[in-house]
Amino acid sequence: MLTRYGATRDELAELLADQPRYRVDQVWDALWRRRVPLDDATELPATLRTRLGDALPLALSPVVEATSDDELTTKWLWATRTGAEVEAVLMRWASRASVCVSSQAGCAMACTFCATGQAGFERHLDTPEIIEQVLRAQHASPQRVTNVVYMGMGEPLANYDAVRDSIVQIRDRLGISARRITVSTVGVVPGMRRLATEALPVTLAVSLHAPDDVLRRQLVPLTDRYPIAEILDAAAEVAGAQGRRVTFEYAAIRGVNDSPAQAEALGRLLGSWPGVGGAHVNLIPLNPTAGFPGQASPRRHLHEFALRLRAYGVTATVRRTRGAEIDAACGQLRRRTLTPVEHPASSRMEPCANTSS
Ligand code: SF4
Repeated sequence: MLTRYGATRDELAELLADQPRYRVDQVWDALWRRRVPLDDATELPATLRTRLGDALPLALSPVVEATSDDELTTKWLWATRTGAEVEAVLMRWASRASVCVSSQAGCAMACTFCATGQAGFERHLDTPEIIEQVLRAQHASPQRVTNVVYMGMGEPLANYDAVRDSIVQIRDRLGISARRITVSTVGVVPGMRRLATEALPVTLAVSLHAPDDVLRRQLVPLTDRYPIAEILDAAAEVAGAQGRRVTFEYAAIRGVNDSPAQAEALGRLLGSWPGVGGAHVNLIPLNPTAGFPGQASPRRHLHEFALRLRAYGVTATVRRTRGAEIDAACGQLRRRTLTPVEHPASSRMEPCANTSS
């Protein structure tokens, strides 16, 4: 079924075959370049807007919308036409905005600290469903969306083709440079190696969360398949091929992965990493969830952790989290509306982090 952001230009032209030729340009321009809702494209006759609205329905229906106290962060839970629920987050600044999108409904990676993982995997999103999250967020933002991060629900590289195609369309139709697009992975090595072959200079963000395989296995079960050494090797390949610095995400959990010794171990590991531009670590205080007993590391710890990393030549930042009061971390809003399914692991927590940009 055709949807508003799934129709190609040719399909749109076919729908508008009885209209003057310039109508196709007008509609395409409104949807993609000006990024306005169809109802706001008042240069089109009202009857035509109604007809197009019926012929090209939206793929996502709102379930929950929550805005932070400062009104700079908005999170949506949307239902797809098959009933699967996905989340997206809009983060606004004075002159720009960033959208964090989901690539799957649920996630099969089962990271033990992740709210999304608690509900298990439902299905991959298709390209129009991913792109519509960006457009719908844009409709709510006075600022132009300049950045897109694939850090919402799901593992983007496990839904490779749809994610790659959505990046291409975001670049070509919305005019957002691939350099302003970040793709997060928990370490799907084949997908990382494939990304290295694409002419798409996105920023890769690798969710590392531990300095050694023994601890990482407890947090990220995928470590059994792809140990850290292999992930770092693939990350260096991406950095070299794309000429982009890779960032490493580290959700800091008090008493679990935030000790001085673990900072030293991470510094040694990443200080010698050969990727372009060296390693950059984003330290993210864990956003606690009901399903996981872990707590966030105190910010003071994180700053000390960052200092130790810098001593090894690793750049490190302590990420400011946003919208905690609206459960802005991935998977949390959906989890509130669901009865979690049985899952083999006893606890889940915060996934790919509530992003800052
Ligand atoms: S942290 Fe990311 S990859 Fe892991 S289960 Fe959660 S959404 Fe999936």
